[in-house]
Amino acid sequence: MARYLLLSLCCIAISLPGFGQEAVNQELNDAIRKQGLDNSKVMDIAGWAIDTYGPRLTGSPMLDKATEWAEGQLKEWGLKNVHTEAWGPFGRGWELEHFEMHAQAPNYWPVLAYPKAWSSSTDGEVSGEAIYLQANEEKDLEAYKGKLKGKFVLLDTLRAVEEWFEAPAKRYESSELLDMANAPMPTPRPRRNYQRTGGLSFNRILWDFITEEQPLAILDRSYKGDLGTVFVAGARTTERGDLRKEGVYVIPQATLSVEHYNRLFRLLQRGVPVTLSMDLKTRYTNPDGMEHNIIAEIPGAGLKDEVVMFGAHFDSWHSGTGATDNGAGSVVMMEVARILQEVIKETGVQPRRTLRLALWTGEEQGLLGSRGYASEHFAEFAPDTYNPQSLKPEQAKVSAYYNLDNGTGKIRGVYMQGNPEVAAIFRAWLEPFKDLEAGTLTLENTGGTDHLSFDAVGIPGFQFIQDPMAYFARTHHSNMDNMDHLVEADLKQAATIIASFVMHTAMRDEMMPRKTIDVGQKEENKESKSKP
Ligand SMILES: [Zn+2]
Repeated sequence: MARYLLLSLCCIAISLPGFGQEAVNQELNDAIRKQGLDNSKVMDIAGWAIDTYGPRLTGSPMLDKATEWAEGQLKEWGLKNVHTEAWGPFGRGWELEHFEMHAQAPNYWPVLAYPKAWSSSTDGEVSGEAIYLQANEEKDLEAYKGKLKGKFVLLDTLRAVEEWFEAPAKRYESSELLDMANAPMPTPRPRRNYQRTGGLSFNRILWDFITEEQPLAILDRSYKGDLGTVFVAGARTTERGDLRKEGVYVIPQATLSVEHYNRLFRLLQRGVPVTLSMDLKTRYTNPDGMEHNIIAEIPGAGLKDEVVMFGAHFDSWHSGTGATDNGAGSVVMMEVARILQEVIKETGVQPRRTLRLALWTGEEQGLLGSRGYASEHFAEFAPDTYNPQSLKPEQAKVSAYYNLDNGTGKIRGVYMQGNPEVAAIFRAWLEPFKDLEAGTLTLENTGGTDHLSFDAVGIPGFQFIQDPMAYFARTHHSNMDNMDHLVEADLKQAATIIASFVMHTAMRDEMMPRKTIDVGQKEENKESKSKP
């Protein structure tokens, strides 16, 4: 009791003038720092989640194994209500069993390439000539009619490769952070509902034609990257969404390293015949078509019906081990749960609100897991949209959601997602971490990841500002997304700061301030040739 009294006295002391009105609990922060910086387990967790259970493509057997491991680990740390929650249907999954590609003529060399996810298998090892398909409109296809069967089709032009005169990895300069801090209130974008109108897009015509022609495989080059780094994601089909439909044949597709692709392209331009061979063996998995998020809790005391959520997507693409995308965010959030469990044991301070960890799946295919969760728990959405038509009672119970999904870089601050009311709160909570170089608040939105599923239903959802490192230059969706590109000190710093944010959100008297949202708003119809 005396100890608890001391702790609350410590809170009151800090809320004196000069720190604004928000309480900061120094004793809790000290305990969190000790666990997060001096007793970190983040790299051990990463060794399992990434080296052992990577990549974690949604729908793949490896993700199921990774899920089992994560649940076991969370239970071992003493978290409660550890379970998976189904969402979907997602459709069929995919697994790569074997891939090799070789150039056979004009001379032999092994080709550095990766199959695109959901590609079907070749019929054992196949070989054939390479041909470049140069077409920008329908009439251009005429010349290739009946010419692609049994061949490897190159779709891309040559991409110029420039030498690296700047380091691929970087940290934010203070001037860049200052620009972010001075950024104006973001202008809300109208909710859009893309409808397919008018004639077929050329892309659609092209893929219909290619499917008709039955080439051995479709080859392209990485849209960025060089020196062995290949950026690759999912295969294409004529109909969007067909990839995950049972029984659909997906033409084998591979992305080549730019240097190898350019060499093939130049040989063909010079009129030198090229022969390639490929052996691709893949398997479609996940027969029930449903997918799962991982949920675990630390029960609250006092305001236990209210919840603070924190999480990251656990799924990844397939050519690396999903280390920086998003193994980094997942292992940091698991470490946050471990840190808080230890701190609660050590200090005896129980969070007032319940703490809920979520590891999402299906993020790479469109935030599917976190949106599935939002429609299950928080809101009814208009069909095929993420515009809430009505809210569910649980929506009022979640104070905030914290997400991490920008690689291995340390936290430099927070995106306030257009919610200025949280500024004074976050400023007070960041103050004790100035020594760890996390002090920037920006009103800006940041997109493309799971906090948007909360923001869309009016629950304060935040993503942290992270140093870019070599995320977009090297590892994001690439074959080099391996644990070697995780920076331990940065992950420790991130877990420490997020643990403090989560605990302080759970301890404050009020829920976090919310933006107002329009529920039941109709979408603005927007003509578009094809869905974004
Ligand atoms: Zn990601």
